[in-house]
Amino acid sequence: MAEAMTFSVRFWGVRGSIACPGGETVRYGGNTSCIEVSCGTRRLIFDAGTGLRPLGENMDADTGPFDGDIFLTHTHFDHICGLPFFRPFFAAENGFRIWAGHLLPDQTLKTVICQMMMAPLFPVPPEVFAAAIEYRDFTAGETLQPAPDILIRTMPLDHPDRATGYRIEFDGRSLCYITDTGHVAGQRDKALVDFVSGAQMMIYDSTFTDEEFPQFSHFGHSTWQEGVRVAEAANVERLVIFHHDPSHDDAFMDTVAAEAAAVRAGTIVAREGMELSPGVPLHLEAG
Ligand SMILES: [Zn+2]
Ligand SMILES: [Zn+2]
Repeated sequence: MAEAMTFSVRFWGVRGSIACPGGETVRYGGNTSCIEVSCGTRRLIFDAGTGLRPLGENMDADTGPFDGDIFLTHTHFDHICGLPFFRPFFAAENGFRIWAGHLLPDQTLKTVICQMMMAPLFPVPPEVFAAAIEYRDFTAGETLQPAPDILIRTMPLDHPDRATGYRIEFDGRSLCYITDTGHVAGQRDKALVDFVSGAQMMIYDSTFTDEEFPQFSHFGHSTWQEGVRVAEAANVERLVIFHHDPSHDDAFMDTVAAEAAAVRAGTIVAREGMELSPGVPLHLEAG
């Protein structure tokens, strides 16, 4: 039997909204959204929250030059504020493509990033990046192919200012990255269920619990219980709870982890530093 290629995800930031360092969040982590997906020797980055900075430090230890892709779900601050602090951007031999599919026709990703790094909000513009940066706008719903053997399907999510969901297909397996997105209580999002259908893994916006949801139903975020319902309806192998609310400390997340695993075996809460492989049982995994 042919050996499976490396297909794994490493979590560098698992929080939503704002970074929350400190003793109460030290085990699950305080950095905002950033995950690194390895497809064979190729490295794909999804979202550029504060978790992008430690990822960049880690890449520094590797041998460059890097040619990489950064896919943004959207440009809310918690998903892009790590960009100016990503060390590989400051080496001329590196090249990166930054992708976004949620913007309106009259907006471009490049303009948005320039606006974020504009005085008096930020001291230096994106021109300080020495690496070759390409800004790639697309329309959520398009299929992307960053390499001949990697297919990335995309879909629009339900979020203020919009967001893009990703389904990464590699080596016969699928990993779905679904954040930030809301849901309507009691209604199934059929488009989402179809999109993630049969995936080995779904990382899902679980900012709230079902108990908290009525208060925040218009925020454009979902619950871990809705993640379970979507995973069940779509036959997703493993649900990964993600985009934790900054007010949910380690003790709270432990409770969520226990409840979720009891409701649907194999469900886990994303933690900073955790590495998972879609389609590989947990006990066989390294981290
Ligand atoms: Zn967010
Ligand atoms: Zn958002």
